[in-house]
Amino acid sequence: MIIQSVSQLIGNTPLIDLQVNVPKNSHIYAKLEMFNPGGSVKDRLGQYLLQDGSKKGKINQETTIIEPTAGNTGIGLALAATQSHLKTILVVPEKFSFEKQQLMKALGAKIVHTPSEDGIKGAIKKARELAQETPNSYVPMQFENPANPAAYYQTLAPELVSELKQPITAFVAGAGSGGTFAGVAKYLQEKDATTKTIVVEPEGSILNGGPAHSHRIEGIGVEFVPPFFSDLQIDQTITISDEDAFAEVRRMAQEQGLFIGSSSGAALAASLKVAETLPENSTIVTIFPDSGERYLSENIYD
Ligand code: PMP
Repeated sequence: MIIQSVSQLIGNTPLIDLQVNVPKNSHIYAKLEMFNPGGSVKDRLGQYLLQDGSKKGKINQETTIIEPTAGNTGIGLALAATQSHLKTILVVPEKFSFEKQQLMKALGAKIVHTPSEDGIKGAIKKARELAQETPNSYVPMQFENPANPAAYYQTLAPELVSELKQPITAFVAGAGSGGTFAGVAKYLQEKDATTKTIVVEPEGSILNGGPAHSHRIEGIGVEFVPPFFSDLQIDQTITISDEDAFAEVRRMAQEQGLFIGSSSGAALAASLKVAETLPENSTIVTIFPDSGERYLSENIYD
C-alpha cells in the first residue's frame, strides 16, 4: 500500500477475536485502536474535530487549536493539526503519562499543565481562559461537542458492524469524555435494538455512585455525567479496580503478545464479567483504545 499522508492510516483498525477463556463459550472481539497512526482511538476524533471546526468556519490557516485533554485526544488533535499546519495548545492535568506528553510535544504541540488535584475540570477551565487570551483560537471542547460521539458513530461503529456480520449481543466500552461509548452505542442500537450497551469506569469515577477519587487507570473515569449520555440507553455500568485492569494488561502482553493500555485492560475485565451474565455463545464487542507502550513509565509490569 502506498499512501500520501498519515491521515489515510486513521481508522479501519483490526478487530481481534480474543483467544482467551470466555465464560459460556462466548466471544470477545476487541477493536485494536493502537493501530491508528498516533496510537489511539482519538486519532479519529482529532481528525473529525478539525474537519468539523473547518466546516463550521471556526478554523482558518492562522487558528490556534486549544483543548483540555488526558492526552490521547491531544495527540490526535496535534497529529491532525500537522496536516494543516495549525498551532495547538493542549491543557493537560500533570498526572497523565510522561509518554503521552512527550508524543504531544513531538507533534509540535505546546503543553500547559494544570494541577492533578483539579482534575479534568481544572483543565477545561484553564483551556477556556487561554482561549479568551488567545486571538483567533478555537476550542473543540470534546467534553460537550456533539462532533465527539459523531466521530465514532460515523467511523468506528460502521466498521464494527461490517467486520462482524453477525448480531452483537453486547457492546462494552469505557468512558472518559463518553464520546466513543455514546457514538458507537447509539449506532449499534439503531441497527439492532437488542444489543446491550455496557459502560466501564474505574473505581473513583462517579457513574455508579461511588466516591470520586484518583485512580491509576488512564483515559477513562468521569467527574461529571457526560452530556452525550442523556438520550442514550445504557443497560449497565461496570466499575473496575486498577488492579483488575492491570492484571488483564499483564495477561494480554504475556499470553497474547498484545500491549494494551489500562483502559483496555478495564474493558476486557468488564467484558469477561458481562459474559457470565449473557446467554451461551454471545458476541461481545469492546474497544481497546490504546497501547501499553505509552504507559511503560507507570511500572505496570514490575
Ligand atoms: N481510553 C483511553 C486510553 C483514552 O485516552 C480515552 C479518552 N480519554 C478513553 C479510553 C475514553 O474515550 P472517550 O473520551 O471517548 O470516552
